[in-house]
Amino acid sequence: MTLSRKNILITGSSDGIGKMLAVEFSKLGSNIILLGRNGDKLDQVYDQLDNSNESQKHLILQADLNLLSSESAHEIIEAINQEFNSLDGIIHNAAILGNMTPLEDYDLSTWDQVMNINLRAPFLLTKTLKAMLLGSAMPRVVFTSSGVANKGKAFWGAYSVSKFGIKGLAEIFADELETTSPIKVFNFDPGATQTKMRASARPAEDPMTVKSANELLDCYLWFFSEESKNAEKSYFEYTELSNLVASKN
Ligand code: NDP
Repeated sequence: MTLSRKNILITGSSDGIGKMLAVEFSKLGSNIILLGRNGDKLDQVYDQLDNSNESQKHLILQADLNLLSSESAHEIIEAINQEFNSLDGIIHNAAILGNMTPLEDYDLSTWDQVMNINLRAPFLLTKTLKAMLLGSAMPRVVFTSSGVANKGKAFWGAYSVSKFGIKGLAEIFADELETTSPIKVFNFDPGATQTKMRASARPAEDPMTVKSANELLDCYLWFFSEESKNAEKSYFEYTELSNLVASKN
């Protein structure tokens, strides 16, 4: 299986979609680098990771992406380097919603936090970890988009702006890296998914009407497949990609 012995960094893997990916990728033989801000939650996810492959090992990196600096990004690469020779993938999944308010009322410190976590950290981590990705035979970088990344919508504030930014960032990295290296870059909108973030954004919604995080797994597996190497675009939405993946199975 393609994911066996792959070293994959998943940001925001203490909860929601990132946690699902960590657990499921570990079952397929990957070595998981968990990154999150809450040590207790990361320990709990670590305990759920599969270790059945003898050579499999996982790593916890406790880091608050709101505070990420060039120095702490270098500490992250050093910590990964101590355990693994190369990095096969980064899934930039961590994000916060911030406030759902009109822009004129938007609190500046929340704005800065949202931009730091959702946009600045994926930029800095990708730039810093590029050298390690070059040690992989099939390196992948997956950014996370949202339905509010393409059209501005009232009250989505900094979150929406950060996801517009991720669209540009992913396109630029794709254009720069794919012409000069084997690194393949994707940007994925997972669509409405039952998580803590979705519940905060839509408190009145019945969670049972929304798909579970596990339903996203096949899409993420595709990003790490041989086939996705030949993809002619980097941006995918859940419905389109899940249909494409289902048509191949
Ligand atoms: P969750 O809120 O469930 O999980 C977010 C993860 O990011 C958590 O592990 C959280 O840690 C982590 N995180 C937040 N802030 C920081 C920080 N400062 N440093 C490190 N880690 C941090 O969200 P989802 O699983 O729903 O979202 C995952 C991704 O999917 C996001 O990029 C989101 O924008 C995107 N998305 C989600 C949709 C949905 O419907 N759920 C729809 C479209 C896009 P902690 O556990 O400490 O809070």
